[in-house]
Order: sequence, then C-alpha cells, then structure tokens
Amino acid sequence: MSVVSLTRVAVIGGGAAGIMAAIAARHAGAGVTILEKNQRVGKKILATGNGRCNLTNVGLEITNYHGKDPEFAREALSRFNVRKTIDFFEYLGITHKVEDGGKVFPCSEQASSVLDVMRYELDETGVKVICEADVKEIRKNGREFVVNLADGRAIHADRVIIATGGKAAPQLGSNGSGYVLAENFGHKIIKPFPALVQLKLAAKFLKQVKGIKFAGYAEIIVNNLPVAGARGEILFAEYGVSGPPILSLSRKAGEYMQKNQKVHLKLSLIDYLSGRKLEEYLSRRLQTRPEKPLAFSFVGFINKRLAPVVLREAGIADANKPAGRITAGELGNIVRILKDWRFEITGTTSWLNAQVSAGGVDVAEVNAQTLESKIVSGLYFAGEVLDIDGDCGGFNLQWAWSSGYVAGESAAARL
Ligand SMILES: Cc1cc2nc3c(=O)[nH]c(=O)nc-3n(C[C@H](O)[C@H](O)[C@H](O)COP(=O)(O)OP(=O)(O)OC[C@H]3O[C@@H](n4cnc5c(N)ncnc54)[C@H](O)[C@@H]3O)c2cc1C
Repeated sequence: MSVVSLTRVAVIGGGAAGIMAAIAARHAGAGVTILEKNQRVGKKILATGNGRCNLTNVGLEITNYHGKDPEFAREALSRFNVRKTIDFFEYLGITHKVEDGGKVFPCSEQASSVLDVMRYELDETGVKVICEADVKEIRKNGREFVVNLADGRAIHADRVIIATGGKAAPQLGSNGSGYVLAENFGHKIIKPFPALVQLKLAAKFLKQVKGIKFAGYAEIIVNNLPVAGARGEILFAEYGVSGPPILSLSRKAGEYMQKNQKVHLKLSLIDYLSGRKLEEYLSRRLQTRPEKPLAFSFVGFINKRLAPVVLREAGIADANKPAGRITAGELGNIVRILKDWRFEITGTTSWLNAQVSAGGVDVAEVNAQTLESKIVSGLYFAGEVLDIDGDCGGFNLQWAWSSGYVAGESAAARL
C-alpha cells in the first residue's frame, strides 16, 4: 500500500454533514481532506426538497428528532442552531426565505446553489477533496489513523470524522458502509430502518385506485389505539400509500414494525365532516336523486374511481342499484369507510425510496458535546450515520449541518 497523502483531519463522506464538518475544521485551522466515494461531493444535497433544498426549519424543537435518545441532539442543535445556520448560509451567499410550516429554502429555489457555495468555500479555504475514494477500513496505529481505500490508497490522519450517512437513497452514495467502519471500532449500531418513506398496505384493490389523491387524515394504529396522526395530501399507489403525511408517519410505523407488532393505517377520506354530519349529508344527497345508480351518486363528492371500491368495502354487492334503495346499515358502513378505513401495514418501500435512516451509531457511546467517540479517541461522527433522525421539513439537513459543524470544530480544536 502506498501512502499518498498526510493530513490532520480526514472526513469520510462528502455529504451535507461531511462538507460542513470539513469547512468548520478548516475554519478552526486544521488541514482537512474529504474522502468521497462518488465522483462528486454533495450528490444527495442536489436531490433535497425536490431540487429546492429545504435547508432548515425556523420552528425547530427537540421533539422533531427521534432515535433511542433524541436529547443527545440538543447540544449540537443549540451550538450550531437554526439562526447560525441561516447566517452561515447567508455568508456563503444563500439568501433565504421561509415558507409554510417554517421551512427554509434558498431564494434561488435551487439545491444546486447550496452545493455550489459550499464547494466554493471548500476550494477557497483549501480543503482537499478526493473523490472516487471509497473508504473500506480505518485503523488506528498508536495516535495515528490509517484510512484504507478500496483501490489500495491509504490516507494518514490525526483525527477522523465518519460522515458517511446511513442507508437511505443508496443510489446517491450512502450505503451503510459507515456502520461497518464504526462497528469495527467496537461501536454498537441500532438496527437501521427506512424512514420518511412510503407505506405498503395489504389490500387487493390497490391497482384499481392507484394514482388517486385526496386531502385527508392518516393515523397509525397499534393495539387499536392511535399512536400518531398527520393531515395532508395522500396518494394511493400500487403498493400502498404515499404523500407528505404518510412519509411523516412512516417513522412511527417502522418503529412498531421493528418490534414485530401489527400496525394498521386508518385513513379518513372525509376529514372535514363528523360521522353524524356526513351521514346526514349523504342521506340527503342519495334521497334527492333516488333513481341514480348508487356508485354514480358519489360522482362529484369523492373521486369517481374510489366510489365502487368504497361501496364494495362497505359490503354493498350491487353498486348500481338505485340510490334510494340503500338501507340504513349500508349507509352506516359507507360512512365508516369514508371516516375510518383500516389497512394492515405490511412494510415500507425500500431504502431506494427512503429519505432518511432511522437507527445508526448508538449515541450512548458518543460524546454529545464534541461528537467524539467514547471508545476511540480522535474518532468523530456527524450526520445521519448517528442514531438521530428528524421529521420531514428541513430537520434532517439541520442535523447534518449542526452535527457536522460540532464534529469539525471539535476535531480541529483538539489538535
Ligand atoms: C430525495 C431526498 C430528499 C431529501 N430532502 C430533504 C430536505 O429537503 N430537507 C432535509 O432536511 N432533509 C432532506 N433529506 C434528508 C437529508 O438529505 C439527509 O438527512 C442528509 O443529506 C444527511 O447528510 P449526511 O451527510 O449525514 O449523509 P449523506 O448526505 O448521505 O452523505 C454521505 C456521503 O458519504 C459518502 N460515503 C458513504 N460511504 C462512504 C465510504 N465508505 N467512503 C467514502 N464516502 C462514503 C456518500 O457517497 C455520501 O456522499 C432528503 C433525502 C433524500 C434522499
């Protein structure tokens, strides 16, 4: 193996957390090298916020974070907080705007502009970036780390920051290799599972309803009790459901499925009327034009492709009988389906579709003030590789920026 370079801080992974860690370490005076396995750094940043990069959220609370010990994140999130993040990006050149729900975006509406200014800062400050550098192994020889790449190159460093991301969206680079690097140093990994991801449902009619959108309310039900709920646009797909409220709830569903518990989804298609009001309304509607075929009576009220499915689920065999011939029991069943449609959740779609990884390096073995390993001195962690994940809305990038900043500054400060 040939030694190609000597550096002080080596950052493994050039994603949001790694780039921020490198800039912070460099600003604090260290020599820094980023090792990135892709051809370019920041590939995932380009995909964030549908290409607009929801870079933080002004309404951030610690309750937006999850993991075995979400409190762990408080220190880094306070040290490099939302205000400092916005100021930092303004300094780099990103004028910001705040949208609904406190979501912060660049005024350019371009995620690429966020990456552009970060790469400019790396260049300007002299951070060395080595791409196509797939880190396979990190060893510690005395006080020095030796970082071995897949192609046989080796990088020597005094400090190492693991910022490899988790397993979400492996097509963008993060494939779980950081967990192996951490495990080799004796770190415990909390079993990762996909979060902010679509849910798969057990239902035979999904092909028939795929593509139908509705604004409704979704709840995760465990042991017949609601454990989380969210409102917004929900989309039926061939595998199950998608849409912002579903992505938000997927973390909770995944948590229970990890414990092998049966998890159900309750969909309320008509969220704006109480059950009683809905029943009164439908009764009036059906009696106004009693000659209409029953399924056709719903045209104009719910998506017309949904009507026959709802009637079948309500146990009504003849969807074309005259609306006026509906019984009180049948009407009650329709109302139940429209207000409380239950599905068994059979899983989530794959890592390819997940925006974030729940689980990761157990934070009990990491110092919350510095993000240094409690097992190996000089080894640091930043970003999604740690067992911290955030809600949808800019919270995950904020964790990447905050943890990256703290890890970078701490690694440099100890030199
Ligand atoms: C489609 C999509 C949209 C999203 N939108 C938003 C959003 O708008 N707002 C928000 O807050 N969050 C969003 N997220 C989540 C957010 O992007 C991530 O939480 C965040 O990027 C994690 O940063 P990270 O640096 O920890 O990991 P990553 O961004 O995954 O970066 C890790 C880097 O390490 C590299 N790497 C991995 N292993 C190795 C190795 N062995 N050697 C060398 N390099 C390695 C990878 O190639 C990658 O470049 C989105 C995620 C996705 C997938």
